[in-house]
Amino acid sequence: MIKTESHGITLYSFHVFSTIPGLKHFVSTRHNGISEKNFSSLNLGFHVGDNNLNVLRNRKLLSVATDIDIYRFTCANQCHSGNVVLVDDASRGKGSVDKETAIPNADGMITNVEKICLGVQVADCVPILLYDPVERVIAALHSGWKGALKKIAPHAVEKMIQHYGCKTGNILAALGPSNGPCCYEVGPDVVHEAELALGNTAGILKPSPKAGKYIFDQWQANKRQLLEMGLKESNIETAEICTQCHSDTFFSARADAGVTGRFVAGIMLEK
Ligand SMILES: [Zn+2]
Repeated sequence: MIKTESHGITLYSFHVFSTIPGLKHFVSTRHNGISEKNFSSLNLGFHVGDNNLNVLRNRKLLSVATDIDIYRFTCANQCHSGNVVLVDDASRGKGSVDKETAIPNADGMITNVEKICLGVQVADCVPILLYDPVERVIAALHSGWKGALKKIAPHAVEKMIQHYGCKTGNILAALGPSNGPCCYEVGPDVVHEAELALGNTAGILKPSPKAGKYIFDQWQANKRQLLEMGLKESNIETAEICTQCHSDTFFSARADAGVTGRFVAGIMLEK
């Protein structure tokens, strides 16, 4: 990823989207905001127990840094589902300044409408951004191990094909900072569920050095599903930045024992 500073806010972006005109995207960090303690400091999640006014101020800081009007930020309530919704003008700004108006019961959003910034909030789960430069369609997905087992990435690609006529060979994909295969331990219950849902878990699950624990590779699980849908490997960028190893820069629910903030990966068609 590429690190930049804008109006005092640190942002990251992906190489795969970096030279595309009319497309904005970003990944925020936990730095340069005003929230305190476990939410220190650029917490962008209204749903995690932080002071709402501080979250709103942090979102305004992000709005200035990205030069995206705050009422263009559009968020879903994110419930670890496989549900992907189509976003149109009527949904623009949902969840932008509070959690109550966020799009319900969804972890993925797709649009071809300009000036809607689809944003997913994460702290260990994988933020996935998709873009079809031919049909000019964007998507933002929240996919941890649960999202991978519920196949949220394939669902999103299917909807891009069905509703917008996208071709998988054209779709660019980026997987953002998230808990990596260096750290992401799961129990035997997850192994059982993963085998049922994914079938072949070779390369996705392996025994952890800790007895009775396993490592779930969220990056590989999501990437493999995109490849199986027909995306080209050269069109998929994985940040390969582990949030738990880099919890000084990104929020990590595991590193902060469950109570922590959220950073955002966002994408918007500009014109
Ligand atoms: Zn790690």
